[in-house]
Amino acid sequence: MIKIYNTMTRKKEELKPINQNKIKLFVCGPTVYDESHIGHARTYISFDLITRYLKNQGFSVFYLQNITDIDDKIIKRASELGVEPIELARKYEREYLDDMRVLGVENVNYYARATEHLPEIINQIERLMANDFAYETETGIYFDESSFPEFGKLSRRNLEDLNIHRISPDDTKRNPGDFALWKKRDDEPFWDSPWGKGRPGWHIEDTAITEEYFGPQYDIHGGGLDLIFPHHEAEIAQMESISGEKPMVRYWMHTGFLNVKGEKMSKSLGNFLTIRDLLQEYDPEVFRFFVLSTHYRSPIDFSQSALEQSKNSLDRIYKFMENIDELIESDLYENNDYDDKLIRKLLFTRSNFLKAMDNDFNTPEALSIIFNSIKDFNREINEKNVSKSILKRVKLFLLEWGEIFGFKLHSINDADDRTKELIDILIDIRGKLRDKKDWELSDFIRSKLNDLNIILEDK
Ligand code: AMP
Repeated sequence: MIKIYNTMTRKKEELKPINQNKIKLFVCGPTVYDESHIGHARTYISFDLITRYLKNQGFSVFYLQNITDIDDKIIKRASELGVEPIELARKYEREYLDDMRVLGVENVNYYARATEHLPEIINQIERLMANDFAYETETGIYFDESSFPEFGKLSRRNLEDLNIHRISPDDTKRNPGDFALWKKRDDEPFWDSPWGKGRPGWHIEDTAITEEYFGPQYDIHGGGLDLIFPHHEAEIAQMESISGEKPMVRYWMHTGFLNVKGEKMSKSLGNFLTIRDLLQEYDPEVFRFFVLSTHYRSPIDFSQSALEQSKNSLDRIYKFMENIDELIESDLYENNDYDDKLIRKLLFTRSNFLKAMDNDFNTPEALSIIFNSIKDFNREINEKNVSKSILKRVKLFLLEWGEIFGFKLHSINDADDRTKELIDILIDIRGKLRDKKDWELSDFIRSKLNDLNIILEDK
């Protein structure tokens, strides 16, 4: 039984999807106006792990993410750089997707761009207006916060508190907390709408996209802690007002923030690190390990020493795996008298590992179980208690861990003969390209193989 901490109830609850074992998961995607940073990576690696574990446990997961490719930040940056906003958005979207691939984040089924869902966005706004949840002013269309008395239920703030602390930047609104669904603008980029030229507000983009693919109710909605208010509150207000069906989402999941040496990461503090900067110095798997060694809801503190520690820990796992591979290839006996005892030990370890993961994806606990088990099996190996058959089972367990945590632990020995032959062909082609001094293509082949954890070294 998997338990998930639900931000809405502040409790761990048993995971029961709406439709049998099918899970609809939506995670807020990035606003693509700049290079993605290591804080983004923290959030998306965490949801990648969660998806991998759910799949490992037999759930079928449809993972949807939006891409905010229309936004004031994009327009401002594009005008500073003298490029078209859409050009800028596409460039950073491509880079984001590349960064995610390198970090092993590979379970999103569909990325939905805001600019490709204007009809759905406009349609939602029309329905909100038709039912008096929204109103028009000369500057735009606004959601009327007072029409949804439950506003604030996720962040546990009440409307009065909210309004006392919020100043209205726009006198045309009925309540200071009313937020824009549509901004009337005729500067580029704009779209036509029943209310004239303009562009959508940020919050409506997500509900228009989730309603299109998931309907008014779905299983899990995720994002970083900073999005609880006002973004996720606004989503709930929009969707539950239109559909009248509650709750919009069964489980709200939020990741803790990544800080740098105890401080919030920011450009002005000079402690801002993009994923690309990071990968100049560190292996993507080391960063992934660093992220997963802290629970996804806790804050995580980035520092060089923490990354060094992660590197050492990950090396221990790879070395252990290498050692097992060598022993399996050696003339070690196939079975022995200790087998039953060691099988029991391994089953017990796996069951504890799964229990930790079932408990709101407790990765630090799961990792400590893995390391204790490595220590234990190393001792059994030194005492010559292990047979090949046990080592093969230990290896299978570690490979399963690698699948869930997103580490490619397979060695080339695991590949079938045909795969080995195909790799040899690629190596031959790359050799020929190098002879012709086509470094770009030969590097491309090496980097693609590298993504599969096949490391080519020119000696
Ligand atoms: P943004 O592009 O700023 O909307 O962020 C995209 C996602 O990354 C959101 O879910 C944010 O909550 C998350 N995020 C942004 N900064 C950080 C950070 N420092 N630590 C963890 N998650 C973050």
